[in-house]
Amino acid sequence: STALVLFRRDLRLADNPALAAACAGHDRVLPVYIHAPEQEAPWAPGAASRWWLHHALEALRRQLAAQGTDLHLRIGNPLDQLRDLVRASGATAIHWNRRYEPAGIASDTALKAALREDGIAVHSHAGNLWHEPWMLATDAGQPYRVFTPFWHNLRSQLPEAAPLPVARAREWLRVPGSLPTAAMGLLPAIRWDAGLAEAWRPGEAGARELLEIFADDAVADYAKGRDLPARHGTSRLSPHLHFGEITPRQIRHVLQERAGAIDARQRPDLEPYLRELGWREFAHHLLFHFPHTPEANFNPRFDDFPWAPADEAVLARWRQGRTGIPLVDAGMRELWHTGWMHNRVRMVVASFLTKNLRQHWLHGARWFWDTLVDADLANNTLGWQWVAGCGADAAPYFRVFNPYLQSAKFDPDAAYLKRWLPELAALPAKTLHEAWKHPAALAACGYPAPIVDMAASRDAALAAWSALARE
Ligand code: FAD
Repeated sequence: STALVLFRRDLRLADNPALAAACAGHDRVLPVYIHAPEQEAPWAPGAASRWWLHHALEALRRQLAAQGTDLHLRIGNPLDQLRDLVRASGATAIHWNRRYEPAGIASDTALKAALREDGIAVHSHAGNLWHEPWMLATDAGQPYRVFTPFWHNLRSQLPEAAPLPVARAREWLRVPGSLPTAAMGLLPAIRWDAGLAEAWRPGEAGARELLEIFADDAVADYAKGRDLPARHGTSRLSPHLHFGEITPRQIRHVLQERAGAIDARQRPDLEPYLRELGWREFAHHLLFHFPHTPEANFNPRFDDFPWAPADEAVLARWRQGRTGIPLVDAGMRELWHTGWMHNRVRMVVASFLTKNLRQHWLHGARWFWDTLVDADLANNTLGWQWVAGCGADAAPYFRVFNPYLQSAKFDPDAAYLKRWLPELAALPAKTLHEAWKHPAALAACGYPAPIVDMAASRDAALAAWSALARE
């Protein structure tokens, strides 16, 4: 018999349950990708994600070529395209790994129903999380709203099964009509992507390489190293996880193997890292149960929050990294240049936007969506609502990050600041951490004056919040 495997957010051959099931259960397998960004509206992939997707698909095609076949690539309505491919291939079954975003769930539900009516056996698999988002519930049978109990529950039942090996079909099928990756038009017309190409290697091999580096160098010191933006103290696996080029199961397996090989007692060192992957699961749990939250406050009390009116000039300076606050600008320029930003700096730039500038968190979420290579609806929604104070288990609104204290503490020699703000590289670190005391020195470097007074804007934000809290 013949099966189609529909690739989406699972661009890998190893530990891929849909692909493994198709290869195990059928004589012939046709691997397919259908480009239909309109199906993901209103969160169709942004510019940086499109860049990544192009290269990740090219990488997958190279891997399949090494097995003597290709990814069959189509553009258009998935149901029409699949029906056409079923006709052309004689397939009786379709396998895919599930998606978890509201638009993905809606389109997959409709697709499954229509194909089943056609008499096709449709099998959906759990491929990208430790646990499906609906599997965990509180004792009262409700979705979790607080991370720690969610994590305790999840941690006590992490799947122990080994990751699946690279799948191989008995026979890979090819049918006419496959398009070149370039036909999707995912690459930018104006080539702003040099920084991305320097920083990343999309695809399964690139993910594996980062995991090896992290397992060798950084994981043991992760609890401390993850807070220092100048260092590669984190895994940088986020875009690879988003596109499903690696799974949490594979990551844990490799890290445990290494820890075990060196010294079993080192295993507790893995916990802080596993916990971060737990946040990813929590984000997916929340998005599944509260699918309106990419646009709406999780905590409806914030619906009355007095945001400042959207100010395009202010937003532009934030986006371009010209706010005059060194850590904020360094982060925004890292984002623009590499498509990624260190987690601590993400919190700082988000706090600055939503509290000091009092712009609605959605302005920030949308900019991140367009510029992050790891833009992920679950994680981005959680991150923005957490910082803005309106999310599940969020940071309290009155916690306003102070970018000067943050850089003094986590970037003491200003290596991160100087890397991304080369115009300030000649100034002493202390001058940068206390930039408000040295306006003339910074201005002489051509660096802008602060866009807001930090203390006054913080007080105004807290006053706005107190008024809301009193209501
Ligand atoms: P590591 O520290 O190595 O962590 C490993 C993995 O755990 C990450 O790859 C990620 O998948 C997951 N993870 C880590 N921290 C978090 C977290 N706080 N929430 C959810 N998952 C987490 N992450 C995204 O993947 N996509 C986003 O669009 C995104 N937007 C964010 C927006 C804001 C305002 C904030 C504050 C955070 C956002 N994050 C997002 C979370 C976090 O910043 C990134 O996951 C992390 O910086 C990625 O780097 P890493 O892979 O080196 O992380």
